[in-house]
Amino acid sequence: MGQTRSFKPRKPTKPVKVDNNKSAGDIVKELKGLQQGNSNNNYREQSLKIHGLICAKCGREFDVKNKNLLTVHHKDGNHDNNPPNGSNWENLCAYCHDDEHSRGILGDYLKGK
Ligand SMILES: [Zn+2]
Ligand SMILES: [Zn+2]
Repeated sequence: MGQTRSFKPRKPTKPVKVDNNKSAGDIVKELKGLQQGNSNNNYREQSLKIHGLICAKCGREFDVKNKNLLTVHHKDGNHDNNPPNGSNWENLCAYCHDDEHSRGILGDYLKGK
């Protein structure tokens, strides 16, 4: 029989690439995100990122050292309404935020009631 068999030499199998695109930092971020879920910290960081470290009312600027004085105000007053585009957030310094609420709501908010 004139049958010819062609054996293709097997290429050595390369080790499967293990998602090398992710940096360690990304993974840590992911893990933290999972832990925190939709917690306050999460939307706060988002809002600061979107709107910048500046008070929307008095224009006072903040930096990484004192950004804890900058708080996130929910325009509709609903702390559970956190659209990812930041449309319900306003960054207000503690003073302006207090002013904005002036009925003691913020007091409760800051005390974590
Ligand atoms: Zn302010
Ligand atoms: Zn507020």
